[in-house]
Amino acid sequence: MKYTPIIGLEVHVELKTSSKMFCRCSADYFGKEPNTHTCPVCLGMPGALPVPNKKAIEWCVKIALSLGCTINKESKFDRKNYYYPDLAKGYQISQYDQPFGEHGHISLKSGKAIRIRRVHMEEDTGKLIHQTIDGEKASLIDFNRSGVPLVEIVTEPDFSSAEEVKEYLQKLQLVVRYLEVSNADMEKGDMRLEPNISLSTDPKQLPKYKVEVKNINSFRFVEKAINFEIKRQEDLLTKGKTPQQETRGWDENKGVTFSQRVKEEANDYRYFPEPDIPPITFTDAEISTLRSRVPELQEEKILRFGREFSLAPYDAEILTRDRSLANFFEESVKVGKAHGINPKQIANYIINKKVDTSTQLPASLVKNIVIATQTTQVDETELQKIIDDVLTENTKAVEDFKNGKEASLMFLVGQIMRKFDKKVDVNQVKDALLHKLHGN
Ligand SMILES: [Zn+2]
Repeated sequence: MKYTPIIGLEVHVELKTSSKMFCRCSADYFGKEPNTHTCPVCLGMPGALPVPNKKAIEWCVKIALSLGCTINKESKFDRKNYYYPDLAKGYQISQYDQPFGEHGHISLKSGKAIRIRRVHMEEDTGKLIHQTIDGEKASLIDFNRSGVPLVEIVTEPDFSSAEEVKEYLQKLQLVVRYLEVSNADMEKGDMRLEPNISLSTDPKQLPKYKVEVKNINSFRFVEKAINFEIKRQEDLLTKGKTPQQETRGWDENKGVTFSQRVKEEANDYRYFPEPDIPPITFTDAEISTLRSRVPELQEEKILRFGREFSLAPYDAEILTRDRSLANFFEESVKVGKAHGINPKQIANYIINKKVDTSTQLPASLVKNIVIATQTTQVDETELQKIIDDVLTENTKAVEDFKNGKEASLMFLVGQIMRKFDKKVDVNQVKDALLHKLHGN
């Protein structure tokens, strides 16, 4: 029996707003002293009133627009009720049936489009830290992360391999980085990934079960976890068993997934509209204003670099992997124009020399290219003398060349060039050397 993997993905992206989602506490909590970025709102005190962060909502809408979503003109926040020690209120403010964005997509290189079901806004929870203190095991809670704005991006189950998931994630990461709404730094937990995986004998039909793997924080691990699950489920199905509907965790040390919670039925979070926050509405004009603030994204940039600068898609792709690198390249093109350096030369130089654009200015880059391409004509007599010296020192290579070994010629050219303390024209050297070797 042949099984097709059916994979969907939920991604949480932490926004880098200066304040939290519903209070004025600083959202810049990473590495800070525990419980120093808190107030009655994000500590979940009874009666404390949440006030939505306008910037976070705008950024969520910008993400949704960049992913081709339709923006709902009427949205609201809902309470998602569940209990966990890191959730002081006993509910999380999220969005249920009226998310900010719906029906978007990301296209993969193969041309396949991964449909995005929804893009919604919610708040992060606190963080549990398990430690041994004075020889006793203890669980500590840090509420600095509680209430930090999160955007959740949910796809349809459109992926059929771990490689497709990885490509999608790289594109999504680039979109949020281009928008400058999140650092999307995996190590700091800015992006958290939850794939759901099942196998089907009929790709058009969804299986009756689904396995979710929770909270993965690296692209490499998500790939490994998916491949592990495909294999595990395939083994069960081959033995005539049906995998359980469950939530699993990923053990990065052992490289395996493990069962966390078996779901008998769908969770009932008793969602209801958040009574402390009025519904949120967008006019057409507001949506177009936000759309106009979405910068040119990578895909459009690659096409434009091809059109304007005749760059190959491969080079354009490398130069647009980072928005600041793309800007640096364009600035350098402007400077280069005045010095007779073309965009292709600049692209090659940046890519081949792996130029660190954070420590250089476009002007100095162009200057370096000018120097690198500049050659000096050398005095014929001086050249002849050096050629004679090199030929005397390298009789073996001369012999090899005369016996038809072409590579020896370039070796000799290299030896000659090394004897000059300036950059000389390689063609001049080569011509003179050939004349000499051919005896005229
Ligand atoms: Zn607060």
